[in-house]
Amino acid sequence: MDRVVTPAEATHAARIQNRIAGRSVPAVGGAWFEKRSPHDGRLLASCARSGAADVDAGVSAAAAALGEWAATPPVKRGEILRSVCAGLRERRLALAAMVAQETGKSPSAALGETDGSILLGEFFAGEGQRLFGRTMTSAVPHRLNYTVRQPIGIAGLIVPANTPIANVAWKMFPALICGNTAVLKSAEDAPGTAALVAEIAEAAGLPPGVLNVVHGIGAEAGSALVAHPEVGVVSFTGSTAVGRQIARDAGTRLARVSLELGGKNPFVVCDDADLERAVHWAALSAFSNAGQRCAAGSRVIVFDAVYDRFRDMLVERANASRVGDRDTDDFGPLINERQLEKVSTALARAVGDGARVLCGGSRLTGPSHRDGCYFPATVVEGVSADAEISCEELFGPVAVLYRVADFDAAIALANHSRYGLTACIHTRNVHRAMEFTQRVAAGVAVVNAGTYGSEPHMPFGGMKDSGNGTREPGTEALDVYSHLKNVVFLSDPESL
Ligand code: NAD
Repeated sequence: MDRVVTPAEATHAARIQNRIAGRSVPAVGGAWFEKRSPHDGRLLASCARSGAADVDAGVSAAAAALGEWAATPPVKRGEILRSVCAGLRERRLALAAMVAQETGKSPSAALGETDGSILLGEFFAGEGQRLFGRTMTSAVPHRLNYTVRQPIGIAGLIVPANTPIANVAWKMFPALICGNTAVLKSAEDAPGTAALVAEIAEAAGLPPGVLNVVHGIGAEAGSALVAHPEVGVVSFTGSTAVGRQIARDAGTRLARVSLELGGKNPFVVCDDADLERAVHWAALSAFSNAGQRCAAGSRVIVFDAVYDRFRDMLVERANASRVGDRDTDDFGPLINERQLEKVSTALARAVGDGARVLCGGSRLTGPSHRDGCYFPATVVEGVSADAEISCEELFGPVAVLYRVADFDAAIALANHSRYGLTACIHTRNVHRAMEFTQRVAAGVAVVNAGTYGSEPHMPFGGMKDSGNGTREPGTEALDVYSHLKNVVFLSDPESL
């Protein structure tokens, strides 16, 4: 078995520069921003703080590389992406160490995320052999109709830091297999991961300029990428508020937009559920990755008949959670001080409004957590469905419990949200389970597991404020990154 590199062993460049046309360059304005460890607050790197000029350079490089990449047959593009995956696999421990260092998650969790990202890359490399269109019949004799997928052009990719290598892989691989070139705006809290992926990809044979990476602040580098007139498709994963802004800005120039946004996902426990299992999955859904998942199960809706027992079991489980950056821990820190402050103040407001905090609830300050952004597994009850803590995504390890009388009340509460990303039910009743998957307003509906857990070939995305209806990954992601052209071919013009 491979040895997992500990975060301290990861080599993090003291300065992380942009990667443009195969060259590492500082920001044009010479500015830098700091990336600190969420585990102990130490400075990990200074990163290029890019602005419009840097984005422009990235887009120019992508434009220069576009002709040749788009003309490369899709099967050949797939072969190159397969080599990229092989390169990533060869360096998987270094990548995982970087992910662990930047996020504070354990080495094994980071390695799992890295391996999943490579699998996703391999899936999309295979799409080069399957970039299918359709053939259609026609009312006209000797007329052949078929569709082909064509690249859109330059893809602007914007990602958050919660699962940093997965977020990069989910966008770069489908964008590139479709023949686009890309400019990736890395997450402020995970620039090293994006930089390392780009470096490995180029070393494995991805031509310079096909994937360019700019680092920087969202309102500076991100918004410049969205506004750039040559960016044909903007694919964004992040908060709903920023997604809305991006939809407005990119919409004015009619660029295609894919938005994967927030969630406030319901986890329903019925009176016939296997409670041990339900607690296991509820804890994973709410607390793993410190709740920093768009698919976190943050609203736990429990039938009255089993509420007290389930609550006590979940609280016991939450109290037993180990929090830290080692493989023996259940989850790591929040990504930065700002995020910790957001979770803390939202809980304080909820308590002010009458919420009962059953466990957790405030920053961990013991010797092993003192310098990090550590927040414990937290369970809350006694809030209304319209309370702020019921409606707003926290992105922290907080589960809010709700008591409901029956199935219809559970469905109504599950759907009582402006979000609609994922949902889960625990029941042994097949009809109930089927009803739930039909009636719940979510892009992903799960029976008897967690609110998360997608695979590379499965479409992921949300309804309502959780997105704009696109799906990534799966073959559905190809619809985000390609134009569909209908080819009409009259083989015997004289017959008309
Ligand atoms: P965020 O929206 O603050 O930032 C995400 C990215 O957008 C960052 O790279 C940031 O620099 C950039 N950005 C910020 N402002 C911008 C602007 N004005 N223009 C262009 N880019 C801008 O989100 P976050 O707090 O970093 O991440 C957490 C959010 O991401 C949560 O809401 C979570 O649910 C969501 N998320 C969704 C999915 C999904 O697939 N649906 C997956 C992971 C995370």
